[in-house]
Amino acid sequence: MLIVSEETCQKVVGRADAFKAVEDVFGAMARGDAYNFPVIREAIGHADALYGFKSGFDRAGLVLGVKSGGYWPGNMAKGLTNHQSTVFLFDPDTGQLDALVGGNYLTAVRTAASSSVSISHLARKDAKVLGMVGAGHQSQFQLRAAAEQRQFERVVAWNPHPEMLPKLEAVATEIGLPFEAVEPEKLGAEADVIITITSAFEPLLMKDWVKPGAHIACMGTDTKGKQEVDAALVAAATVFTDEIAQSVSIGETQHAIGAGLIAETAITPIGKVINGDHPGRSSDTEITLFDGTGVGLQDLAVASVAAKLAQAQGAAQVVSL
Ligand code: NAD
Repeated sequence: MLIVSEETCQKVVGRADAFKAVEDVFGAMARGDAYNFPVIREAIGHADALYGFKSGFDRAGLVLGVKSGGYWPGNMAKGLTNHQSTVFLFDPDTGQLDALVGGNYLTAVRTAASSSVSISHLARKDAKVLGMVGAGHQSQFQLRAAAEQRQFERVVAWNPHPEMLPKLEAVATEIGLPFEAVEPEKLGAEADVIITITSAFEPLLMKDWVKPGAHIACMGTDTKGKQEVDAALVAAATVFTDEIAQSVSIGETQHAIGAGLIAETAITPIGKVINGDHPGRSSDTEITLFDGTGVGLQDLAVASVAAKLAQAQGAAQVVSL
């Protein structure tokens, strides 16, 4: 059995590894080769923590496992990240534990890979301006990964807490992209690709602000009640997602569905585009929207890559059970 630490995951798993793992597993999900099991998420009545499991099986990649963890709001004061998780991988032939893999860095890198996969398959090829709504922990991973998908010339950004923007600006500067903090209306008017990655419970981006041909990756909404964009914007867009069941229940489309603005049948799994079973974007003026809700199979896919790379590089700890 392997133990792969957080530090080792950061050393061995790069953005390209995560992109390929996530793209492959989205494709497997759309073919019916991989599926997520029902998610458990509970307030445990201690330390204000939310704790749960995300599990699944990828028959094509032969990856079986569970990500266990959650959110401990008091961790920051202890010098720890509030989100904590660990991935357990099992041998699908025997059920034996194969690997314990740190899940914190991998969560960020797989979430960034998810929006990147959507940009790669759905954004206009000539996209030049990247719009960022959000400036927290995930936003920096999102920016780095998105910047590799198109020949972006600059970044426009807005965050409800503007004091958080300088950290995102530092990332843009590091990767050589001019950065401008703007009002959300201007962001919508200028951006060809928009990533939303906040903890918002009300729309931050309205339909009339977004220009024709934009691609929007909604990445922050992963819980019932959360919302980042106008339900009318979702209704006006051609909508793609990682998993329809999560999209309509805890993802960005929950509000447009609840208001009767769109039907579940109007939502396409991005895996269909990856597999060549859906054309994706159909015109330069169409607005495409990806609802990235975050599925357990993404975590298992990148954890499996981490375990393989760490083992190959002699960076995993080997323990007898
Ligand atoms: P963070 O705490 O580091 O940053 C939070 C961000 O949300 C900041 O931009 C902050 O200004 C903004 N924000 C906070 N409260 C808000 C409010 N009430 N209204 C509007 N904006 C608010 O968090 P993070 O780790 O960067 O995560 C951002 C979001 O992404 C969270 O909602 C998290 O649950 C979600 N997330 C989604 C996935 C996925 O797979 N889809 C994966 C990881 C995290």
